[in-house]
Amino acid sequence: MRRSISKPFVLLVTIVSFGSVGLINAIVKDFTLFALFYLPLILAAIYFDVRGGALVPLGAAVILLFVSEASFAQIGIEILVMFAVGLALGQMSKRHKEVHERLMHLSMVDKLTGLHNYGYFIDRIEEERERADRFGSKLSLIMLDIDFFKSFNDKFGHAKGNELLKKVTRIINEQVRVVDIVARYGGEEFAIILPNTSGEAAEVAERIRRTVEKEDFEGKKMTISVGVATYPTDAPNDLELIDRADQALGFAKKQGRNRVSVYSKDLTDSARSN
Ligand code: GH3
Ligand code: MG
Ligand code: MG
Repeated sequence: MRRSISKPFVLLVTIVSFGSVGLINAIVKDFTLFALFYLPLILAAIYFDVRGGALVPLGAAVILLFVSEASFAQIGIEILVMFAVGLALGQMSKRHKEVHERLMHLSMVDKLTGLHNYGYFIDRIEEERERADRFGSKLSLIMLDIDFFKSFNDKFGHAKGNELLKKVTRIINEQVRVVDIVARYGGEEFAIILPNTSGEAAEVAERIRRTVEKEDFEGKKMTISVGVATYPTDAPNDLELIDRADQALGFAKKQGRNRVSVYSKDLTDSARSN
């Protein structure tokens, strides 16, 4: 992940450059050196938006009028122009940050359910696997798929199908911890990353399965099939962890659906021999 320069560091650089420029102006009293204030102004406006863009011209005016004893006639226009530039730059920077944040959000979130999307999931599972390595902890993955969703769609229509996806999302969110990462893996498939867990993941999966089973969807009962796998017990890396959880999910489907399957090597061996 890209790290940006820390705000306290920029604040320090801004203050130091403002102080240096102020000192030069106070000593030299050559008002053409006023232009040097644009250095801290640009930094302040970019990093601290309108507040930064307004404070630097204000500080410059105080230094020039009261320390360098310039008259308002000498520097008034320059200060006003600097204010205008500071405010415009600050406003632009604020808008830029808002757009950036919105785009970041859109790139990570699934529009229908509000869950994280596949791209975010893939990045996060790698990050969480690295964290598990660092702390020597375990990491579980739950993959779940709605049973016979196509027939529900066919019977009630796509819009009601979407409502069902939202309802299942709500159920999942109610059953997981805040640290767990829930994503929409594909159409009617969900993935849940559970850091720092192993045995509990199957319990969480079972709770979700049971809650879905009890819920009413357009007067109809729906079920889900779930696969669970744990790193590093079941898989040597994050991609294989996804594959193992998916295999367990496939096994749950084969066994008749509406069940939770926990990955084990025996499970895939028995699936192969079937
Ligand atoms: P299985 O028990 O084997 O999982 O059967 P299934 O019918 O659930 O699986 P299948 O893969 O045959 O069908 C998945 C369906 O999910 C087909 C597709 O139209 C539907 N689907 C995928 N994304 C969406 C969506 O965003 N909204 C709605 N309403 N349906 C979706
Ligand atoms: Mg399905
Ligand atoms: Mg599916």
